[in-house]
Amino acid sequence: MSEDHAGPAATLAARVRHLEALLEQRGLIDARELDRSLEAFLARASPANGARVVARAWLDEGFRARLLSDANAALPELGLSMRGGLQEQRLKVVQNTEQQHNVIVCTLCSCYPIALLGPSPTWYKSPAYRSRVVRDPRAVLREFGFELESAVQVNVWDASAETRYMVLPRRPAGTDNLNEQALAALVTRNGLIGVAPA
Ligand code: FE
Repeated sequence: MSEDHAGPAATLAARVRHLEALLEQRGLIDARELDRSLEAFLARASPANGARVVARAWLDEGFRARLLSDANAALPELGLSMRGGLQEQRLKVVQNTEQQHNVIVCTLCSCYPIALLGPSPTWYKSPAYRSRVVRDPRAVLREFGFELESAVQVNVWDASAETRYMVLPRRPAGTDNLNEQALAALVTRNGLIGVAPA
């Protein structure tokens, strides 16, 4: 079982502090340095990053293909990365199509690509969302005001400490004339999670 899923957040925070203290004692890290990099990471973490990725993928087929096959390798093209903490997390981008819709969750805790989506919403961490989206994703989407056609298959992707997911929504109709910036403005955090169309 992975570190992120070891127990309640408080326990995890205590273990992180303990580990930090050990590393600091041995001169392996500088606590202030660690705080600075964490603050810098959180300052950059925003759903605007995910939205930029989506807009580029809608406009640039080559980028879309690279993003879907190896997101970690494609993100630096936009000056982004999944290297938020000490270790790079693997990102898998899952593409919505006419036939398939994707939703992300972490059933065990709240793993989430913070760098691209910003801090996660409270409901994402709630036991209700985590259990219900797996059992009945359509009902959960309906509560978000998103009615999915019955012919569309729903895939629910369960994150782990090592792998995070982000949804690539379908490009809305009637957006042929929009540039990358205008397209990015159409993308919401809920769309990147999969509980909204875009
Ligand atoms: Fe988790």
